[in-house]
Amino acid sequence: MQLLYEGKAKKIFLTDDPDILHVQYKDHATAFNGEKFAVLPGKGRLNNLISSKIFEVLSEKNVTNHFVKSLSETEQLVKAVDIIPIEVVVRNVTAGSLAKRLGLEEGETLKSPIIEFYYKNDELGDPLINDDHIAMMELATSRQLNAIRLAAQEVNTILTRVFDDIGIMLVDFKLEFGTLKSNGELVLADEVSPDTCRLWDKETREKFDKDVFRRDLGDLPEVYEKLLRRLEGVK
Ligand code: 5GP
Repeated sequence: MQLLYEGKAKKIFLTDDPDILHVQYKDHATAFNGEKFAVLPGKGRLNNLISSKIFEVLSEKNVTNHFVKSLSETEQLVKAVDIIPIEVVVRNVTAGSLAKRLGLEEGETLKSPIIEFYYKNDELGDPLINDDHIAMMELATSRQLNAIRLAAQEVNTILTRVFDDIGIMLVDFKLEFGTLKSNGELVLADEVSPDTCRLWDKETREKFDKDVFRRDLGDLPEVYEKLLRRLEGVK
């Protein structure tokens, strides 16, 4: 297979169909814009299985997305997209950079969800941006941005319920969107996994996400395995 692109956590290969790509999840964990790095055996399998499961749930609820099907424990097929260089973060509970930036305690439930946009640019460290910056840099049209906002809210509603049903609080998460190479349709893309979400046990507040690696809180694959087991019950 011809390698199209290798990122921090995934390799993307071309297929015979120009509209379909083959994604292979790697065992690499990175944090703080690549400053912290480790190879954690089993992580690729867990992220692939968890993200596939989440995209299946979202497809069932008619959220248009790039996922085609899971191929193996570490591989999946997706529709080829042009990624919109905006990281869309949705927050339900204070944590991470929100808590740091505004001097807040972590763990406070927000009155209503917050949506933030970050410019996807490693060299600049993914800076926080707003609608006006997005328009100025022509990262997305206002129509696309409206659709992205609505889709992000919809994903939040769906996933908050899915995780709540298995005793987990969806604290925050990051989404990426793209336009299909085939017809330009805006779709949810990339991955939705414990690498891109904060997930806390509702009772104990145990973390089931990449903060375990970022903050040296334990064995990441072990924690992701526990999350996968809980998700296996979700229809
Ligand atoms: P924060 O802005 O608090 O660091 O992150 C908010 C949420 O978005 C967290 O769930 C975090 O995992 C996710 N997130 C933000 N930026 C990135 C990123 O560049 N990579 C990944 N994997 N997740 C991100």
